[in-house]
Amino acid sequence: MFKNSDKISIRNQVIATVLGAIIFGFLSYIIGLIELILNVINSTYNFLVDSISIPIWLFIIFIIFVLSSVLRFINSIPKVANDSEPSFLEYNKDNILGLKWRWDYSSNGDIINLYSFCPICDLQVHPHRTGSFQIIDDIGFYCEDCNREISSFDHGYNVLEDKVIRIIQKNLRNNSWVSKVKYENKSS
Ligand SMILES: [Zn+2]
Repeated sequence: MFKNSDKISIRNQVIATVLGAIIFGFLSYIIGLIELILNVINSTYNFLVDSISIPIWLFIIFIIFVLSSVLRFINSIPKVANDSEPSFLEYNKDNILGLKWRWDYSSNGDIINLYSFCPICDLQVHPHRTGSFQIIDDIGFYCEDCNREISSFDHGYNVLEDKVIRIIQKNLRNNSWVSKVKYENKSS
């Protein structure tokens, strides 16, 4: 028969042995895992630094493929400029009073170089006098390409030009130019 102290001693030995086996097994597992990871890293490194010989034509095709992929990727990036708010300088054409107008801005924002165009075919058109009397300053615009009178006014060109500039300035003030430019940018 064992004494109580002997029983405790045997139990402690059993626990120590089991714990030792668990710790040894765990350490072996960890060491094996580290060895495996190192082997994988080593093999990958050897594979990457290894040199292979391929024909030049295959290398050129590869380079072309890479370049075209990069270009496709760059093109697929959404164009930030289109989404951002346009500058008023982009508002440089509009259909006003039956004619298409183009213009520039001077350095201090004045509307300059105002020209009129046919709204159908985009041919530049000039005013011509329509009144029968020399004293009356009526003007009209005729498009030679469309072969038709586009519009006529019961006043002179200076009055028309002033009116168009005031309409452009109004569109700039009330911000209606923004939707016009965005529409133009989308359709072009
Ligand atoms: Zn025309």
